[in-house]
Amino acid sequence: MRIDIVTIFPTFFDVLGVSLLGRAREKGLLDVRVHDLRDWTHDRHRTVDDTPYGGGAGMVMKPEPWGEALDEILGEDAVLVVPTPSGEVFRQPLARELAQEKQLVFACGRYEGIDQRVIDHYAARGRVRLVSIGDYVLNGGEVAAMAMIEAITRLLPGFMGNPESLLEESHEDGLLEYPIYTKPAVWRGLEVPPVLLSGNHAAVAAWRREQSIERTRERRPDLLPD
Ligand code: SAM
Repeated sequence: MRIDIVTIFPTFFDVLGVSLLGRAREKGLLDVRVHDLRDWTHDRHRTVDDTPYGGGAGMVMKPEPWGEALDEILGEDAVLVVPTPSGEVFRQPLARELAQEKQLVFACGRYEGIDQRVIDHYAARGRVRLVSIGDYVLNGGEVAAMAMIEAITRLLPGFMGNPESLLEESHEDGLLEYPIYTKPAVWRGLEVPPVLLSGNHAAVAAWRREQSIERTRERRPDLLPD
């Protein structure tokens, strides 16, 4: 998979070189390219923003540098992902869908966001997804893009050492994950549930399923069918 990121803060993405993501890049599973939007400006101050038409607080990202950058970066089948608090909420099914794509291009907004015409222009010519990582407002799209990139790329075949660890995670089957434990069997007087030490795989599976449902009912009832 190829991932392009357009931002005015390229160093935000230095962390893409570490941990599993770094290893995936070394293995050739992932080709990540980070671009500085200011490379597509032509004035001495490398200006990317201007005041909003209609007035109001804050600045808006100008369409010209975005247009030049995206014309150069977007491949034929690419999906342009625009992080925005006014987009559809990013969930596991969308991560799975985007993990099937050949090229994702993340357009990281700053200030009050990107001039609407940039979105309209590319939506008329290709695939654009406006995506929010939750109902709160960040300063820029970089952290949102990072969160999405991590959720998407760990689903790529060959990314995880043990792909089975993906199967039982929260949100994979619509439920939250059951509680997990490791050694020692007793810590500060707290015992691991005896069923997990029983060696009875069917009983363990049944207990975990029950716990998943209970935890989801308690913490995220909105995920359960009515
Ligand atoms: N004026 C915008 C609004 O009210 O919808 C908020 C702009 S925000 C300060 C600047 C940038 O941060 C946005 O263009 C977007 O790229 C990013 N951003 C902020 N919150 C986000 C969220 N919840 N999900 C995804 N991106 C977000």
